[in-house]
Amino acid sequence: MKKEFDPKTIIQTLQGVLPREQKSIALHEPLFKGNEWNYVKKCLDSGWVSSTGKDVDRFEKQLAEYSGIKHVIAVVNGTAALHICLQLAGVTSGDEVLVPALTFIATTNAVSYCGAVPHFADNEERTLGLDPFKLGDYLREISELRTEGCFNKKSGRRIKAVLPMHTFGHPVDIDPLMEVCQRYKLMLVEDAAESLGSLYKGYHTGCWGRLSALSFNGNKIVTTGGGGAILTNESSLAVLARHLTTQAKLPHAWSFNHDMVGYNYRMPNINAALGCAQLEQLPEFIKQKRSLAVRYQEAFADLKGVKAFKEADFARSNYWLNVLLLDEEYSAARDTILELTNKLGIMTRPAWTLMHQLPMYQYCPRMDLSTAENLERRIINLPSSAFL
Ligand SMILES: *Cc1c(COP(=O)(O)O)cnc(C)c1O
Repeated sequence: MKKEFDPKTIIQTLQGVLPREQKSIALHEPLFKGNEWNYVKKCLDSGWVSSTGKDVDRFEKQLAEYSGIKHVIAVVNGTAALHICLQLAGVTSGDEVLVPALTFIATTNAVSYCGAVPHFADNEERTLGLDPFKLGDYLREISELRTEGCFNKKSGRRIKAVLPMHTFGHPVDIDPLMEVCQRYKLMLVEDAAESLGSLYKGYHTGCWGRLSALSFNGNKIVTTGGGGAILTNESSLAVLARHLTTQAKLPHAWSFNHDMVGYNYRMPNINAALGCAQLEQLPEFIKQKRSLAVRYQEAFADLKGVKAFKEADFARSNYWLNVLLLDEEYSAARDTILELTNKLGIMTRPAWTLMHQLPMYQYCPRMDLSTAENLERRIINLPSSAFL
């Protein structure tokens, strides 16, 4: 028999998993137990702290080897990475880009930076990410396929790309999504900001889209302080990404010439030095986070009305952030649980406010978003640092 639903029981269960001796427990804290001091000191001693240097090269090489993706361009943050990915995918002013309604704001903002319009698609409960089947049905209804591509019949705008996000580290169901992209001539770009180390059918997230973005912000699975990366298997796109992120400066011994509107987006060497040390520990972080996820799953298994979210069978998640998912009928208790845990110093958080509920995006095109709306009411993120 399962224990009856009760916020107090949930909190006791949570306390049973978390270390007792710690006064307050963050949602996600970085861990610097490797070569961080060593590499950052070497970088300072070298004098190369800014946007070129051998730590950037080393960091990019390490990431390419780890992910199995050919080209890696390290940049200032994940949002900048997304911006460049979309621009290189050909997204321009007046286009529409399909984005999940349940995502972090940066996914959607990157679309706006290109002058394009976000078009919100629903999420699904299996992965917490974009629902490829619902998207396929929706596009059949609202779009018109022409030789140049896919057009939104209502707005008349071209739907250029799909930008799925691997929510809290859980890969979206990519195969059916790629089918939709092929059928509707849509470019696939992945927001893999949260899913470094997550696999879909054995391959790294980020290798499926023509371009994809990672983030190394302080709360991500590995950090460079602030940072991001553009990933692609296509060398021509990689060359352009490198060029665009370095002010589009033409190589020359002393003159300043630029052939495009570029950006100052390259990652500083000192951040990369930190990142090299962090990447060395990534396999260990993933091991620890996956074992924490199992502990949550087991602890909540005999409680009614809740479950600790588990990866889909086609996925190996990095479990960047653990999710406690309330059953629909108990979603009204979400705020009580958030209130009680935070009062006790256990940092929990609700999901992001849905994109179509934000003032600047409320008039954007969207499909029925009932699953995203439902999930948003039921998600509680649990403390997920690797050392817990
Ligand atoms: C963190 C994050 C980003 C952006 O990363 P920054 O490095 O903070 O700019 C983008 N998308 C998602 C889903 C994220 O979680």
